[in-house]
Amino acid sequence: MKTLSFNKGIHPKHHKAYTENQPIQIIKPKGDLVFPMLQHIGAPCEPIVKKGDTVRVGQKIGEAKAFVSAPVHSSVSGTVKKVTPMLHPNGSQVLSVIIENDGEYTEIEGMEPRGDSSSLSRETIIELIKEAGIVGMGGACFPTFIKLSPPPDKKIDFIIVNGAECEPYLTSDYRVMLEETDRVVLGLKTVLKLFPKAQGIIGIEDNKPEAIKVMKAAVAKEDRIAVKVLKTKYPQGAEKQLIHAVTKREVPSGGLPADVGCIVQNIDTVVAIHRAIYRGRPLMRRIVTVTGDAVKNPGNFKVRIGTSCREVIEAAGGFKTEPGKIISGGPMMGIALFDMDVPIIKGSSAILCLSKKQTVIEKESACIRCRKCIQACPMYLMPLELNKYAIHNEDDFFVKFKGLECMECGSCSYVCPAKRHLTQSIKTKKRSILANRKKS
Ligand code: SF4
Ligand code: SF4
Repeated sequence: MKTLSFNKGIHPKHHKAYTENQPIQIIKPKGDLVFPMLQHIGAPCEPIVKKGDTVRVGQKIGEAKAFVSAPVHSSVSGTVKKVTPMLHPNGSQVLSVIIENDGEYTEIEGMEPRGDSSSLSRETIIELIKEAGIVGMGGACFPTFIKLSPPPDKKIDFIIVNGAECEPYLTSDYRVMLEETDRVVLGLKTVLKLFPKAQGIIGIEDNKPEAIKVMKAAVAKEDRIAVKVLKTKYPQGAEKQLIHAVTKREVPSGGLPADVGCIVQNIDTVVAIHRAIYRGRPLMRRIVTVTGDAVKNPGNFKVRIGTSCREVIEAAGGFKTEPGKIISGGPMMGIALFDMDVPIIKGSSAILCLSKKQTVIEKESACIRCRKCIQACPMYLMPLELNKYAIHNEDDFFVKFKGLECMECGSCSYVCPAKRHLTQSIKTKKRSILANRKKS
């Protein structure tokens, strides 16, 4: 089978066997739910409910007041307990609405199936996606309505659905492709309606033969949609790398996918579009993989947004051994969680629980200039040099050598025999330069 790919990258162990054959289980939250007003790239929402208010499933509780923002909806019915800053999975304090779940799941009126998108105008589809609070659910969390509204001079040729799921351990997109196949296709057809001349492509890595088979069967009669098989390689699912693999087009430095006629959407995002358009439901749930050698019964779960990570881990049987590290997301790009009482948010693809044995921190030693990090970097950067500029605060050189283009994929750190904290240092320097730019 011909497989498509990008240049460079790495081949970490998949570790997907923990959960790839575990069907999605629905879990209902028991305790209070926490809805951060920031679950997306952009400006936080403003809460539109207050302590004591009664809310229902699907009710908007956070209004997006800025252009780059996305509203937040309640995933349960109950009473607003508090509106206060709470710990966010990213480690910061974010203004959040806390709802005491009444366990009734009473829905707002009007959240009815409205059929397909064929009678809807482009403007109506975009507005429905915006109002449903849909963001990129692969972790980037960029508001989807903006991605789907490129400037008029950008001709879009390809809508690429990212079924690569290249991060080790993660299997939520894989299970969605197997279990919600038709919804993936219908969601993609809705997006294609916005771009009548574009071709839809679903890219899937070749370590997921079952997903390739079912998706190919589902699009067999669709003349505008094709499934493309990708080589299993990390970071195959990164936007620029996926575009290159599928179209051989290169997103220019500092450019966007639309500059080369492409828009990339995550699998679960496309399903969220289907739910918003066909079923009238805002983004209130997502699929979360709970995995790792420290968890008792690893699995894939359909989780209401706002549910605490502690409850989701309990649904997977809790820990079988004391975890050394709990990560929100995958091992390469995820964020370490220091507290399990943080909520599942729109971008929470996984909770990875690793035993102490798996998380031994190896000591950094001096760079031996083996160049393995350069050979691995999919962005053609020189991680060893960027690491040096980051450590010595040589910001001008860091910028000159394109440090701001690092996508923090972790490939350089993974291959470094000296165990240098390359990604961490580059990431920290990027943050500080961007923060300083914002200030000035
Ligand atoms: S991989 Fe590590 S040791 Fe090798 S050149 Fe890069 S930083 Fe140096
Ligand atoms: S420098 Fe950045 S983009 Fe390149 S391998 Fe390291 S983390 Fe990935």
